[in-house]
Amino acid sequence: MFLHPIEWPNKARCAASITFDIDADSLIRDAKRNDAELRLQPISMGQYGPTVAVPRILDTYKRFGLTQSFFMPAWVMENYPDTVESILKAGHEIGHHSWRHEDPMNHSDEVEAELFERAMDTHIRMTGRAPRGYRAPVYSITPAMVTRLIENEFIYDSSMMADDLPYLIKTDAGTLMEMPPHWGTDDWPPFAHFAEIGYMMPVRGPSEGITPFFEELEAMYEAGGFWMPVLHPFLTGRLARWAEMEKRIEKVLERGDIWFAPLEEIAIYARNYTGGIRHVTIDS
Ligand SMILES: [Zn+2]
Repeated sequence: MFLHPIEWPNKARCAASITFDIDADSLIRDAKRNDAELRLQPISMGQYGPTVAVPRILDTYKRFGLTQSFFMPAWVMENYPDTVESILKAGHEIGHHSWRHEDPMNHSDEVEAELFERAMDTHIRMTGRAPRGYRAPVYSITPAMVTRLIENEFIYDSSMMADDLPYLIKTDAGTLMEMPPHWGTDDWPPFAHFAEIGYMMPVRGPSEGITPFFEELEAMYEAGGFWMPVLHPFLTGRLARWAEMEKRIEKVLERGDIWFAPLEEIAIYARNYTGGIRHVTIDS
């Protein structure tokens, strides 16, 4: 049960948005700034995302008639323009995900403001509009960033974890929807194995890693909630893992009463929901 339930449109039992963060080789380029270009293994592991996995994911979405959300560091957009084009052509959303995946905790907010603006310029130039959604690298959102998002007329953030359902963040600067992720539907714990950034998890088999995401969906379905996996093409877009995802998405779609939409649409719906959503105040 939820303290502030949301009734979804068209009597849908549950809202759902599969999100992919296309970090590609920005991860290693930022983590090892002095010699990243020598590290061909992590570079290639990242490159697999936009070049091999994203076409596979887009093909699935096309066959299932889904439009969903992607988050991209602007540096990745600049370096993989064909990926941006194919995502936009299919009608999906691209959200702001930093310049080159720099963790905002590792530099001053002055630096962050500059990187943020540089990324905004890329989004506007390559997508024809300002992004409406933001997800911080490694979920490292700061109060200053919340203010920056509000000032730049963003509709939502997707980095904070204070609730199961979308909720409204209030600050002195205004309001912002939060589309909350959590670690139970994030694919780093089951699938990431990345020595250079100190993330060495025992890699799970495809169904072992993916089953928990759908257990989360069942709970949300029962309770009338919101399901949002946070995935990465170079992890979950690998052949066997995506085959497993595809099988399960197809099954879930057969129910016909789960509202799959880009995050932006769900955020707008929740913000305008007259039944009342949760408000959380943040000091800016
Ligand atoms: Zn990321």
